[in-house]
Amino acid sequence: MLADAHCHLDGSAELAALQRDEHILAIINCQSPAEWETNRTLVGTYQPLSFGIHPWEASDLRWAAVTPYLEATSIVGEIGMDSVWTDVNLLDQSRLFEAQLHFAHDHRKPVILHTKGCERAVLTAIRKYPNRYLVHWYASPEYQADYIRLDCYFTIGPDVLTDPAVTQLAKTIPLNRLLIETDGLSAVAWAQHRPVQISEYPDILRQSLRIVANLRGIAPVELEAQVYQNLQRFLS
Ligand SMILES: [Zn+2]
Repeated sequence: MLADAHCHLDGSAELAALQRDEHILAIINCQSPAEWETNRTLVGTYQPLSFGIHPWEASDLRWAAVTPYLEATSIVGEIGMDSVWTDVNLLDQSRLFEAQLHFAHDHRKPVILHTKGCERAVLTAIRKYPNRYLVHWYASPEYQADYIRLDCYFTIGPDVLTDPAVTQLAKTIPLNRLLIETDGLSAVAWAQHRPVQISEYPDILRQSLRIVANLRGIAPVELEAQVYQNLQRFLS
């Protein structure tokens, strides 16, 4: 069975229905209270939701407004830092990130991390809050071994063959920490420089499985089972 460890629905009831019909286990990301409510309506209790304030939103934080959602969610994220795709002040990002790490640690909730351009700062921060971490779409050639040493889970995305750092990571992650993600269909379209139809979603996951299985020298069906099991373990 297929598993997507990090997905944005972007409000699509059609994608939510496809995941349910195809029995695809997916962590549905929510980065605002409004998105949490929308996704809850779209997936009911069928899929796990993650909730966290994304680093791009760090300047608009009202902690009191988001606390009920951090309390309601069983997975915190995606949270982290980003020096590449946003102009949000890094000190604001860092304060918010640490507050959420602290919360997740105290409430024993696993965390999904966004690390773009801030791989070293995120690594330093998570060392202070031992927890179960999933590093989402890690695309830096640096610090891979350090994150692996912290026993993190990793998602491999649809750019596994086009980004050498991701290819390298896909070859070296321990098999019991390896996950596949789409990051939602707009991320796939971005990574593959083409429009993507909702109906392609299961095949996008299968294609990533085939590529990674090939890199690891194992059968795709074997990797599919392993990845599903890994996601269940991350969620448990
Ligand atoms: Zn994402």
